[in-house]
Amino acid sequence: MQRYRKFIWALFCVLMICFSGCSLIGISSKPKTIVELYGLIRTKGNQIVDQNEKPVSLHGMSMFWSQFKEGAKFYNEKCIDWLYKDFNCTVIRAAMGIDGGGYIANPKVEQEKIFKVIDECLRLGIYVIVDWHDHRAEKHTEKAVEFFGMLAQKYGDKPNIIYEIYNEPIKVSWNDVVKPYSESVIKEIRKYDPDNLILVGNPTWSQDVDAASKDPVNDKNVAYVIHFYSSTHKQFLRDKCDVALKNGCALFVSEYGITEASGNGKTDWDETKLWFNYIKKNNLSTCNWSVADKKETSASLMPGANPEGEWKESDLSESGKWNRNYIRIENAEAFKIIGFSETDN
Ligand code: MG
Repeated sequence: MQRYRKFIWALFCVLMICFSGCSLIGISSKPKTIVELYGLIRTKGNQIVDQNEKPVSLHGMSMFWSQFKEGAKFYNEKCIDWLYKDFNCTVIRAAMGIDGGGYIANPKVEQEKIFKVIDECLRLGIYVIVDWHDHRAEKHTEKAVEFFGMLAQKYGDKPNIIYEIYNEPIKVSWNDVVKPYSESVIKEIRKYDPDNLILVGNPTWSQDVDAASKDPVNDKNVAYVIHFYSSTHKQFLRDKCDVALKNGCALFVSEYGITEASGNGKTDWDETKLWFNYIKKNNLSTCNWSVADKKETSASLMPGANPEGEWKESDLSESGKWNRNYIRIENAEAFKIIGFSETDN
C-alpha cells in the first residue's frame, strides 16, 4: 500500500511538472485570445490563412482620421476595450491622418495615438491595422519609409500587427506611382519584420485591384486593399475584385461603409446585401468606417457619445447598430472558441 501511494504521488508530480513546463513554453490546449487562436496570418493564393493554414477572416471597426476631433477622442484604451467586448471586434484599424494637421505637422502627437491603440490591441490579443491614412503618400515616401521602419522595429515580432501602407491613392498610375512607393515602404518593413501581413492600397481610392493584380508587388505576404461604399460602388467594383482574385491576389476590405462614398447619404440595403454575400463567398476581412461621432451617416456614433465607450443603443447611429450586429455575428464562433465572456477584460 505504501509503495502504491508513493507511485501515485510520483505520477502526480510528473504530471504537474509536465503541465507547468507546457505552460512555460506556451503550449496550451485552448487559445485564450483571438491572436492565440489564429497566430501570424498570411496570404496563400487569394486567401488569408491562419497559423494552421485555415482560411481566416477578421471583422472589426476602423477608427476615424486620428487628427480630427470627431475621431481623435476615441483613440483611448477604454474605447478599444469596448470595441472588443461589446462589438466583438477581432481587428481594429488605426487611421493615422497624414495631411491636414496630421503626422506631417505633428508626428509625435499622432504617433502616440497610434501606439495607444496598438498597445491595447496587444493586451486584448486582437489584430491591429496601422493605416497610413493619406491620399497622396507618394509625396511623403521618405516619411512613410521612416515611420514603417520604426514601427517594424518596435512591433514587428508581434503577430497582431498588420501594416496598411497607403490608404487611398487617388487618380495616379499603379505601375509608375503607387507600385514603386509600395515597394520602397515594403523593403524597409522587411528589413526588420520578415513575415507580418502588409496591405497595399491602389489607385482610385483603392478600387483598382484589377490593375494591381496584373502587376503585383514582389513580396510573399501582401494583400490588396479594396474599399467600397455600398450606395455608390456596385457590381462594377465586385467585377474588379473578381479579376484580382482570379489573378491569385488576396483582398482585404480595410474600409467600407453602408452609405455613399462621401461618408454621408442613405443606405442602399439591396446593394449592401449583395456586398456582404460577396464578402462571405470570398472569405474577405472587413473594417467598417468609422468610430466617430461626426454628423454623417457613416459615423457609428451619435454626436456627443462617450469617448470611452459604454454606449447605449441610443448612442449608435443606424450604421453603428447594423455594423455592430454584423461584426458580432461574424466573429461569434471565434469568440466562443476562446471562451470569451462579456465580463472579461
Ligand atoms: Mg513579424
